[in-house]
Amino acid sequence: MPFEINRKKTRQIRVGNVAVGGLAPISVQSMTNTLTSDVSATVAQILRLQDAGCEIVRVAVPDSAAAKAISRIKPQVALPLIADIHFDYRLAIAAARAGADALRINPGNIGPRSKVKAVVDCARDHGIAIRIGVNSGSLEKKLLKKYHGATAEAMVASAMGHLDLMGSLDFEQIKVSLKASDVARTIEAYRLFSQESDVALHVGVTEAGGLFPGLVKSAIGIGTLLADGIGDTIRVSLTRDPVEEVRAAYEILKALQIRQRGIDIISCPTCGRCQIDLINIVEAIEKATLNYRVPLKVAVMGCVVNGPGEAKEADFGIAGGDGRGVLFKKGEVVRTFPQEQLVDVLMTEIDRYEKQFLLSVNISEEGKDQNGKTGKSGDQSDTC
Ligand code: SF4
Repeated sequence: MPFEINRKKTRQIRVGNVAVGGLAPISVQSMTNTLTSDVSATVAQILRLQDAGCEIVRVAVPDSAAAKAISRIKPQVALPLIADIHFDYRLAIAAARAGADALRINPGNIGPRSKVKAVVDCARDHGIAIRIGVNSGSLEKKLLKKYHGATAEAMVASAMGHLDLMGSLDFEQIKVSLKASDVARTIEAYRLFSQESDVALHVGVTEAGGLFPGLVKSAIGIGTLLADGIGDTIRVSLTRDPVEEVRAAYEILKALQIRQRGIDIISCPTCGRCQIDLINIVEAIEKATLNYRVPLKVAVMGCVVNGPGEAKEADFGIAGGDGRGVLFKKGEVVRTFPQEQLVDVLMTEIDRYEKQFLLSVNISEEGKDQNGKTGKSGDQSDTC
């Protein structure tokens, strides 16, 4: 039976110009790690995230300077901005007034109903959504007691409590996240919640760690849930440059054949049969195509065992020989090149397709965002 994902249809909301939930593409988001009040550093990082394909970005709002900075950041970027709020509901209100496209509040520390109501009233006035961001590390004390710790059930109860509260305030522009730092509890919490609610879900494994542990935990956690059909927007958490989070998110989406963005490189692990410098060839192609958008499958194989087979199935491919490689294009052998020319030859072909693709989606000058600026962000018309 072919691999198939039956995605759960959730209630759609909007974060700026990006639809989240329902039938909207599963969006990729990240979070800046600059001081939000340092406007130029934050804008520079958001622009890099934008180029990498990020579609929604969250900024920390730990103080009123950060909240105010949103009004200066927003005109300079095309991505919708989510203000990340902990403890002080007044910062949520300040961020909404400064132009945030959505708010993230933590039910474990935002305070009593009166404070949540003030945030909800403000979000409604500004027409923006709220994420109820449950985190296993900051659950309400009464739930920790009731469930004997930060269990998946306790996390779901926290989200449900705030959903009821916002429901009683007639507010529906909501998405939920239920993040734990361990993968098993994260998966369990999202599965439990998804059985009980059709609210849109932001999926991620929190505090996943540095590059290797973070990638593995996120790929398993987010990947399992997406394969279950759960999740409307994803954030990979890495203790790294957030641009790496965006790359990782697309790799997860590509691996599950949910969205195709950019070059999908199929390369062999190399072995004693490999007679070309495959590791450096693959690294060079990866580096050169990092921000490419054209959805191409490129096979880079070390030898003739699996090489020609894989390379033929890809849009482009090379299969190595003795210091040489055969270039394949859409299943046809083009010709043999010395290994020093292989990267250039492959890149010439890829570049041509990238240029055609960018022209066809007309993103260079005409894509307008919700602020009327030009840019790539929020453009969900591509094959992603
Ligand atoms: Fe080894 Fe060839 Fe397989 Fe690469 S394609 S792992 S070089 S046998």
